[in-house]
Amino acid sequence: MDHRLLEIIACPVCHGKLSYNKDNLELICKIDHLAYPIRDGIPVLLQNEARELPMDEGK
Ligand SMILES: [Zn+2]
Repeated sequence: MDHRLLEIIACPVCHGKLSYNKDNLELICKIDHLAYPIRDGIPVLLQNEARELPMDEGK
């Protein structure tokens, strides 16, 4: 995952910054508690593709 990419991508819901979870290969929005998948190295920034996180995950 390219960290420069992380600086330009934003959550499609709240337009906030995403954090990279390298264990799950997901991009986490802590505000919406959503995890966006990364497929073949490409972040899938679609709300309907995102996984909802429990409130205590993704910190
Ligand atoms: Zn968000």
